[in-house]
Amino acid sequence: MESFQELHRDDTFCFFCHPGIACFNNCCGDLNQFLSPYDILRLKNRLKLSSQQFLEKFTECHIGPRTGLPVVSLKMSANNGLKCPFVNRTGCTVYEDRPGACRTYPLGRIAARKPGEKECKESYFLIREPHCLGFSEETKWTINEWKKSQALETYNRMNDLMMDIVGLKNRSTKGRLSEEEIDLFCMACYDLDRFKDFVFKKRLWENSCVSNDLGELELKDDIALMRFGIEWIKGRLFGNAE
Ligand code: SF4
Ligand code: SF4
Repeated sequence: MESFQELHRDDTFCFFCHPGIACFNNCCGDLNQFLSPYDILRLKNRLKLSSQQFLEKFTECHIGPRTGLPVVSLKMSANNGLKCPFVNRTGCTVYEDRPGACRTYPLGRIAARKPGEKECKESYFLIREPHCLGFSEETKWTINEWKKSQALETYNRMNDLMMDIVGLKNRSTKGRLSEEEIDLFCMACYDLDRFKDFVFKKRLWENSCVSNDLGELELKDDIALMRFGIEWIKGRLFGNAE
């Protein structure tokens, strides 16, 4: 059974994952691997696919039972022992663009942001799983060392944008999303290329209540567009109820 251990800022843990370890690749399968908008953006660019092609080929979407919001997860290969579609004998084939959750392990992260606050409060815990032999290795890490080694800051910052939507939904009195709202949510958050067409066709930056200075030119940048999409859907579904 896995166990969880709370970690404080200066605590250290031993861990090292490498191709020579006996369990190498064993953990890259049979996962509930949720993908954030930023995970999808990095992976679809890596694979040179449109967001629509990526979503169709590699993911499935369902409504989160607790949040009532659409959630995208990586589709494990049913005809290959439920392995992650991106693992092969030599390891992760999308390593430089692997999702945030793959980078965070063996840590787990809890983050929360109060309405109106800029900074997130985050805490970390260690997920010890018996099959993972990485804990028997001698390399020591603090939380910050691990975050740096996995380039987690950018992922965390981007992924926290979604946390704000969940917080907004939890605080609102809004019930189930309609089919149209689900489609808009999926487009704005996950299907960035479709959203880009939508934004430019409707010139959305001109008549959106999103409070930023983004114009036509800035929205050609994927990260700016992704941020705009998340802000736009907040306004569209919850009326900017912060
Ligand atoms: S994306 Fe890479 S690291 Fe993550 S589960 Fe798949 S193969 Fe493993
Ligand atoms: S089980 Fe642990 S040590 Fe083994 S490959 Fe996965 S993360 Fe690395």
